[in-house]
Amino acid sequence: MSLKLDGKKLSLEIEQRLKNDLNSGLILAKRSPGLAVIRIGEDPASGVYVKNKEKACERVGIKSFLFHLDQNVSNEDIEALINELNEKSEIDGILLQLPLPNKLNPKELISKISPLKDVDGLHEENIGKLVKGDSALRSCTPAGIINLLLSQGLSIEGKNVVVVGRSLLVGKPISLMILNHNGTVTITHSKTKNLSKVCREADILIVAAGKPNFIDSDFVKEGAIIIDVGIHRLKSSTNKSSELCGDVKLEDVIPKVSAYTPVPGGVGPMTVTMLLVNTIFSWQKNCGIESTIDDLLP
Ligand code: NAP
Repeated sequence: MSLKLDGKKLSLEIEQRLKNDLNSGLILAKRSPGLAVIRIGEDPASGVYVKNKEKACERVGIKSFLFHLDQNVSNEDIEALINELNEKSEIDGILLQLPLPNKLNPKELISKISPLKDVDGLHEENIGKLVKGDSALRSCTPAGIINLLLSQGLSIEGKNVVVVGRSLLVGKPISLMILNHNGTVTITHSKTKNLSKVCREADILIVAAGKPNFIDSDFVKEGAIIIDVGIHRLKSSTNKSSELCGDVKLEDVIPKVSAYTPVPGGVGPMTVTMLLVNTIFSWQKNCGIESTIDDLLP
C-alpha cells in the first residue's frame, strides 16, 4: 500500500502551532503580523489563490491587505507601491501574486521587494542565501515539499532525486533545497533527452512541468516517492463540471509507488502554509522575538 502524503492535514497542524506562537508573541510584539498581497489583473486562478491565502491568514491571526491593481498599471506605479510597503512597519511580508500580465517583468519587480519582507522567498538575496546554504526566507512551494517529506520521516539524504522542471518558482529552488539536505539531484526540462529513463532512476520524483497527467507509471521506479506539484482544472468529459488534476496520472502511478502527494490536498495547502510561516517569522524578527523558521514547524 502506498502512503498518501496528506498536505492538508499537515498544514492544519502547522497552522495550529502558528496560532499559538502568534498569540504568545503578541505581548512582546504589541501588534499582529501583516501581509500585503499585490494582485495585478484578472487572472481567475490567481483570484482563487489570493482568496485562499487571505482565508489562511485570517485563520491564524495575520492581517492581510489586498492591493488589487488594474492590469494596465504602470511599472512605476507598482514600484511606488512596493517602496511604500517596504517602509511600512505594520507590514511584515509582501507577496506579488504570479503570474503577472505579460508586459510586466516579475524578476525586476520582485527585486524591488525588501529581502526581509520577501515572504515568497524569490528575491535574489534570498535565492543567493539558498545557494550558499544559509538561513533565509524560503520559497514556499519547495519549502512545503521538504516539510511534507521530513514530517513523514522520509529521508532525503543519499537519495536519487529527479526534478522535472527548472522554473525559478519551483524547479530550481527545490533542487537546491534537496542538495542542502544531501540528496543527489538531477534537474530535467523540456530539452532533456529520454526523460522517462532519467525519471526511472529516481528514489524521489518531483514533477513541476505544468502539463496535466504528463507522468505515468512508465516514468516511475517501483517503490519510488512521487511529488506532484502541478495543478490544472480540466473540463469533465461526462458533464459540464470541471475537476482538478496534477502533472501526474495518479491512478496509474499509485500502485507502483511507496508514497505520493494527492491533487488537490498535497503540495498546494503546504505552499499556503509556508507563506504563513514566512510571514510570522518575518514578524518575529521585526518585533525583536528570537526564533528560527524551524522553531515554527513541527
Ligand atoms: P513553469 O514556469 O511553466 O515551468 C515548467 C517547467 O517544466 C519548465 O522548466 C519546462 O522546461 C519544464 N517542462 C515543460 N515541458 C516539459 C517536458 N515535456 N519535459 C520536461 N520538462 C518540461 O511552471 P512552474 O511555475 O514551475 O509550475 C509548474 C506547475 O506547478 C504548474 O502546473 C503550476 O500551476 C503548478 N504550481 C503549483 C503550486 C502549488 O502550490 N501546488 C505552486 C507553484 C506552481 P523549460 O524550462 O525547458 O521550458
